[in-house]
Amino acid sequence: MRRILGVIICCFVVATAYFAYVIAERQSALQKFARYDDAWDVSQAFTSYLRLEHQLATYSAEGPDANSDDMRLRIDVMINQLGVLQQGTLRNFIQSDPERRQLIANLNDVVTELDNNFETLDADGIKQVLQKMSPFDGPMTRLSASIVQFDIAELAKAQNVLRRLHFIYTGLAAGLILAGVVLVFLLLRHNNLLDRAYGHTRRLTDELREASQELQTQNNRLEHDAHHDALTGLPNRILFRQDLTARLLHARAGQPAAILLFDLDGFKEVNDTLGHDVGDSLLQAIAKRLLDLTRPGDLVCRLGGDEFAVVSTGLTQEAALDFARRLVKEISQPYSVNDLAIKIGSCVGVALADRQSDTEELFKHADLALYEAKALGPGHISFFQSQMQTRLKERKSIETDLQKALQNGEIEVHYQPQATTITREICGYEALLRWTHPVRGMVPPSDFIPVAEKTGMIHVLGDWVLKMACREAARWNLPLKIAVNLSPIQFRSQNLFQSVFQALEESGLSPSRLELEITESVLLDKNEQTLDTLRRLKTIGVQIAMDDFGTGYSSLGSLSGFPFDKIKIDRSFIRDVTTRPNSLAIVELAVGVGRSLRMTTIAEGIETEEQFECLKRLGCDQIQGYLIGRPAPTSSLAYLYGKKSYIQSARGLAS
Ligand code: C2E
Ligand code: CA
Ligand code: CA
Repeated sequence: MRRILGVIICCFVVATAYFAYVIAERQSALQKFARYDDAWDVSQAFTSYLRLEHQLATYSAEGPDANSDDMRLRIDVMINQLGVLQQGTLRNFIQSDPERRQLIANLNDVVTELDNNFETLDADGIKQVLQKMSPFDGPMTRLSASIVQFDIAELAKAQNVLRRLHFIYTGLAAGLILAGVVLVFLLLRHNNLLDRAYGHTRRLTDELREASQELQTQNNRLEHDAHHDALTGLPNRILFRQDLTARLLHARAGQPAAILLFDLDGFKEVNDTLGHDVGDSLLQAIAKRLLDLTRPGDLVCRLGGDEFAVVSTGLTQEAALDFARRLVKEISQPYSVNDLAIKIGSCVGVALADRQSDTEELFKHADLALYEAKALGPGHISFFQSQMQTRLKERKSIETDLQKALQNGEIEVHYQPQATTITREICGYEALLRWTHPVRGMVPPSDFIPVAEKTGMIHVLGDWVLKMACREAARWNLPLKIAVNLSPIQFRSQNLFQSVFQALEESGLSPSRLELEITESVLLDKNEQTLDTLRRLKTIGVQIAMDDFGTGYSSLGSLSGFPFDKIKIDRSFIRDVTTRPNSLAIVELAVGVGRSLRMTTIAEGIETEEQFECLKRLGCDQIQGYLIGRPAPTSSLAYLYGKKSYIQSARGLAS
């Protein structure tokens, strides 16, 4: 397009230059028409010549009477005419032909001589002049005739030039008009293209604006997603930290920030037994309750899993604890999810910022408080105290000490008897770990078993108890049962079956004498590997007991998921069995279920005769507790060593 426009503009420039040239040409052609005057001048010169000749003839004939003034006039006219012939285009015409040139020169000489000598010339002198002039007559006549022919030829030439110029002019004009039309067409087209380009650009701009808006929305969404929990829509851990940092800045200006960390009690069980959908809905409902209870300016976050946090500002210790109590109370109200009534509790750790607190430190304080609250049991609230840090250090040191405890021989196995309810005869023992720390003294299993589970040491510890217990039981002269506790963590190992098998093989203990106690949480994972391990253990004859029956979320559900051999009713129910009708009802139910499912029932934690009588009345098969015997070292089992006792008891059992 640009090239075409350039060519057209060049054409215009060339055409304009050519027009100037053509006009100049035309002017010169027109000038040639002025030549008509040349023919006139030549004819005038010829007439003057004839008149001069005539005057000279008259003058010579009249002699001295003749009028010399007329003669003088003729000579002057002739000189004048000859002057005209020597000028302009006539001069070119004369000079272009040698004959003409000679003629005019000769005539000029004669007339000049005549002019110079006129005063002294007599009649003879005039005659001589006439004689000199007479040869010019013919050439003068031809000159007069040839100038006309010359002019006609020049005219024809000029006309030709004019015609040619006319054609060129017309052609150029037509060309220019055409170029103009093309130019207009091109300009229109150009305009059209510009319009289209403008429309296109506008569309592109609109699209770009839309895309940028979309991008902005997406950015906002991403920004929101990065800072919020997808399930509950609550701010997440990142926003929690940012908000806490900002509040701590204000805390320095006299507005202390407080963190309330929540952990739901038994949420994992809800998820495992009722499904993740129910778990998700429950979390959403809890989030809503927390939001409803908090004040404007408080931040409710979900930190992950079943962990929530509330960040508040301007609370005293009492106000923060009061707030936590209200939240715990509200959370523990029943929920209705998918037509199911769900009840869930929570523990809370509370920490208040002081002047020096930073985000990490304050969060750690709240976390420690929560840890302590959880250790106290479901529904507890703890406010951070500096002693908690000391206790944390202790726990850490337990962690390191436990690694060496086994090699150092600080850990041993104690055995607690289990008896048949009717006869009160010992029918088995439960192996229970004991750790005597060189500095701390006795460390209860409730303190170190969770640590061993956390560090993974439970696998080594579990294998060791199994070996020790099987070895011990194999020594006995009575075929009493030996119960060994298994942690849910041990089921994560693929070698569990192998460990049990090896312990039995090494000790030579009959598998039917080994009883493994597991809690329902082992089954909640619904892991095929776990079930497979349990089935294989049962296949070789090992017995499986459900420990702590009634404390979990779905004890009855777990019973239907796996064919247990024994149900161990938790001691928390036995403790109140004689005083609380609810506990009695639960124990009664457990015994009934065991009977219906043909599972042995055992009650643990029997401390009093009343409790024993109650269990006996209810029909519980076995009992375990301080009433029968406390967990004791192997030295207390001496009565089981030696042949005699074995034979006697075996006879007794057979009879
Ligand atoms: P558990 O399996 O329920 O064990 C019974 C606990 O009740 C034992 O506490 C026992 O000493 C205690 N007990 C027995 N009779 C009575 C009674 O009449 N009154 C009272 N108040 N308590 C009684 P212990 O030995 O402190 O063990 C606590 C828990 O530690 C056990 O609870 C068990 O879960 C775990 N544990 C102990 N040894 C092992 C082990 O070798 N492996 C695993 N995985 N866990 C173990
Ligand atoms: Ca147990
Ligand atoms: Ca128990």
